[in-house]
Amino acid sequence: MDSIKSAIREIGRQRPLITMNLDVLDVTDVSFGFRRLTLHGHEIDEYSDPRAADAFKVMIPPLDALDRRSHAPVRDAQGLPTWPGQQDPLLRALTVRSLDRARRLMTVDVSSHSDGLLNLWLSALSPGDTVSISGMRAEWYLPAEIEQLVLIADDAGAPALASIIEALPTETASTHTHIIAPESTRDYLGAAGTEGSNSAVTFVPSLTDLKAEGIVGNGARSQVWIAAETSTVRTLRSVAKYDWNVNTQDLLARAYWHRGLSGTDVDARDLERYRKALDEGADMHSPQLAEDISLND
Ligand SMILES: Cc1cc2nc3c(=O)[nH]c(=O)nc-3n(C[C@H](O)[C@H](O)[C@H](O)COP(=O)(O)OP(=O)(O)OC[C@H]3O[C@@H](n4cnc5c(N)ncnc54)[C@H](O)[C@@H]3O)c2cc1C
Repeated sequence: MDSIKSAIREIGRQRPLITMNLDVLDVTDVSFGFRRLTLHGHEIDEYSDPRAADAFKVMIPPLDALDRRSHAPVRDAQGLPTWPGQQDPLLRALTVRSLDRARRLMTVDVSSHSDGLLNLWLSALSPGDTVSISGMRAEWYLPAEIEQLVLIADDAGAPALASIIEALPTETASTHTHIIAPESTRDYLGAAGTEGSNSAVTFVPSLTDLKAEGIVGNGARSQVWIAAETSTVRTLRSVAKYDWNVNTQDLLARAYWHRGLSGTDVDARDLERYRKALDEGADMHSPQLAEDISLND
């Protein structure tokens, strides 16, 4: 069956791990609560198969490092990225918000929250600094057979959501799609160029207030995409599976952050889980594996 899960697994198998060292052009406020990093460089040429909402890891050097380039990771025997001969850099996951291959420009939108390394690092960046990123992980695919679409994201998932909305075929965007996001993303999703589809966005005070009834109709093949905080994703994944009867192959539930844990803590926890699963024969490109690792306690 052609599905978001099977396609993402296949894309993951085919894509090489690419690392790009890019120059900072600009860091600006894009709307309340979001800052945009604009990157530029010829290494963008290596990113030859961009897809909506592609995700990558930014490699953050120590804030006082003289050389701000990070070495490219290589895959170890299990296929996981490692940095032989040097300490692993601090990593944070982000989304390609937009890409202009002709002008070799990439933008990345970062939601501001009170804590965290990412915002500290962004504040210290100046035009001309080098930023090293490594990826790309596919986060989106839409089979032609899908009849209804539900897209749910919080602030961290809003850049990916905005990128997906822009990529939707016009007919899908107007007639078969429910988009649900918190009030805190209203300005961003408007300012980020998704005005045309804004009427379809339902803004809720918080994603946990979501009323499950009336979103997915009986019988139609539905795809559900969720990108938010771990416990919220867990709850919404259950709603999709048990209230809406969505086939797990048509469900992508991504934990974009974990309340009370830094990205470094989450990566360290998940790396152990990945190593164990891969030893037991799991497929490292399977989005189901990623879902189980990040959502199952
Ligand atoms: C595939 C993928 C794509 C992503 N794309 C984006 C993107 O494009 N833009 C974006 O802004 N984020 C994105 N995220 C989320 C981002 O990676 C995490 O939010 C990350 O933890 C932020 O790092 P930090 O250094 O700000 O905070 P950390 O140092 O990781 O965490 C410090 C504290 O802040 C809390 N925290 C972390 N993130 C948030 C948040 N968003 N809101 C409130 N509290 C938080 C943590 O629980 C912790 O207590 C993505 C995540 C994934 C997995």
